[in-house]
Amino acid sequence: MQPILEVRNLTKVFHRGSLLARDRIVAVDSVSFAMQRGEVFTLAGESGCGKTTTARMILGFEQPTSGEIIYEKNQERWHPKIWFSQRIQAVFQNPFETFNPLRKVEGYLFETVRNYGLARSRAEAVELINAKLEAVGLNYGEVEGRYPSEFSGGQLQRISIARSLLVDPALLIADEPVSMVDASIRMSIVNLFRRLRDELNMGILYITHDLATAYYLGGQIAVMFRGNIMEMGPAQEVLINPRHPYTQLLRESIPEADPDRKWQGRISIAETEQEEYLRTGCKFAGRCPQVMDICKKQVPDLVDVEGVQVKCHLYAEQKSVREEVS
Ligand code: SF4
Repeated sequence: MQPILEVRNLTKVFHRGSLLARDRIVAVDSVSFAMQRGEVFTLAGESGCGKTTTARMILGFEQPTSGEIIYEKNQERWHPKIWFSQRIQAVFQNPFETFNPLRKVEGYLFETVRNYGLARSRAEAVELINAKLEAVGLNYGEVEGRYPSEFSGGQLQRISIARSLLVDPALLIADEPVSMVDASIRMSIVNLFRRLRDELNMGILYITHDLATAYYLGGQIAVMFRGNIMEMGPAQEVLINPRHPYTQLLRESIPEADPDRKWQGRISIAETEQEEYLRTGCKFAGRCPQVMDICKKQVPDLVDVEGVQVKCHLYAEQKSVREEVS
C-alpha cells in the first residue's frame, strides 16, 4: 500500500537573536515517517518539541529548510494545488478562534461549499452540510441562524471538523484539537476521529501533548523532543512499554484514575528550551536519569528495538534504522 503522506528528513531551522549573537535553532531535525490511509499517526511531545512546526510544513504554512514531503505518492491525477486544498484539511486547537463571533456559523459552511463548487443549488448545499454535520453528531437545524457564542467549545470543534469534511479530504491534520474543550467531551471528539478513520478511511495526523488520547486513538506514534523523533512505533506498544527515557518520563506525567496517586515528574520547560535545542549530543541529556558520558558528546542513532525505533545510546548495540533502509 502506498503511504498517503511521507515525510523524509524534514528539517526546519530558525535563527534567533541579533546579527552579532545569532543562535541557530533546529526546530525540526531530519524527521522521517510515513502514514497510510485509514491510519492515525500521532506526533506527541511537550510544547516546543517541533510537532506543530512539522504539521505547519505539511500544511504548506511553513517552508522546510530541507527534506521532502510526499503527498499521496503515485496519485498523478491530483495536481499539487488541488491536493493541498482538497485532499488535506486541518482542525486547530482553539475552535473559538476559527469562527468570527459576529458571523453566523452556517456562513462558514456555505462559504466552503461555494469556494469548492460542491453544490448546484442552496437545497443541495443544505443537504451536503447536513450530512457532514450528522457525521459529527449534529444537524443543520441545530446550527442554522446561530452565532459562535451560542455553542460550547466542543460543539464548535465538531462544526469545524464538519466543515473540513465537506471536501471529503484524504488526510485530516488535527493540531491539539481537544486541548481547549472540556474534559467531559474530550473523549467524544476523540471517538469521532476513530469513526472518521474507520468509516471514511481517512488518514488522521493527530498532534498532541496528551498521551492518554494518543493511546486511545491507537495507530502509530512518534514522540518528539527538541525537534527530534525520540521514539516511534505502534502507539499502544510505545506507551505501555516505553523504551526511551524521555517517553518514560512523559508517561509518568499522565494523571492516573486513582486520586491518591499524585502527578509525577510534570516537566517545566520554558527556561531550558533554548539550552536544550543548542545542546551537543542527545538533546535530553540535561534531564535524563540514565545519562552517560557519550550522551553529552554524540547524537544517538535511531535504532530498531523490537519493531520500535528509539534514539538513545542505551540501545547502541541495536541495528541503526539508517542501516536497515540502505
Ligand atoms: Fe538519556 Fe543518553 Fe539515552 Fe539521551 S542518549 S535519552 S541522555 S541515555
